[in-house]
Amino acid sequence: MIVEQIWTGNDYRNFNYLIACGETGEALAIDPLDHEKCLSRARDRGWEITQVLNTHEHFDHTGGNAAVIRATGAKLLAHANAGSSIEGMDRGLGAGDVVAVGKTVELLALDTPGHTMSHVCLLSKTETPALFCGDTLFNAGAGNCHGGGHPEELFTTFDRQLAELPDTTLIYAGHDYLTNNLGFTLDREPDNAVAKKLLDDLRDSHDPDNAMVTTLAIEKDINTFFRLTSPTVIAGIVEAFPEVGDSPSPREVFLRLRELRNSW
Ligand SMILES: [Zn+2]
Ligand SMILES: [Zn+2]
Repeated sequence: MIVEQIWTGNDYRNFNYLIACGETGEALAIDPLDHEKCLSRARDRGWEITQVLNTHEHFDHTGGNAAVIRATGAKLLAHANAGSSIEGMDRGLGAGDVVAVGKTVELLALDTPGHTMSHVCLLSKTETPALFCGDTLFNAGAGNCHGGGHPEELFTTFDRQLAELPDTTLIYAGHDYLTNNLGFTLDREPDNAVAKKLLDDLRDSHDPDNAMVTTLAIEKDINTFFRLTSPTVIAGIVEAFPEVGDSPSPREVFLRLRELRNSW
């Protein structure tokens, strides 16, 4: 499996992805908003884009579909329930469905509601798994829920699915928000030494064209939305929302963090 992370350089800070089979040169384009960059990268590598996948229905993820499909004849894949909001879907995905790319790549579809209710993540079936997680999980952050999502569902997705993946899983998110999100982590957990060091390191060196790829293990250290039992995180929630009592549940902490992040 060959992964190309394509930095769009747009105001929304989108990342687009190409996933290719090294044997056949067939490629899957994930959320190819910057269709020109995606098409030219595929051309440079000698790949043929045969499938386009949208992680969810927001325009900054679907806006390049038409141009890529016009140029390549690729099939369009998305969540089975996204058909009313994504035009021209060829295949609707549910949990456990497999997306094959060429002969050597298989990706497992995860049904991951929360950011929207028709959101899929893809998990590669490779020795080191890779997760293409759209706007569900960001590096050091979580998707917002004001474009058709629900924080309770997002918590369940984090708790029951994402947190259960192998710690080695590589995290490929839909936007470049890492440095900003680390600021929120440190706002909630000023004593998080791993986050502080990473932000210090990235201040000078962060380059979205050659972005750091985190793992789930790193996320568990630096992503507040995985740090629901940290005493500092809990103390901050209790202080901001005394009504939660002295020992809020991980679910309650997650929901309050999501609320705080909305206005941070
Ligand atoms: Zn979105
Ligand atoms: Zn987005």
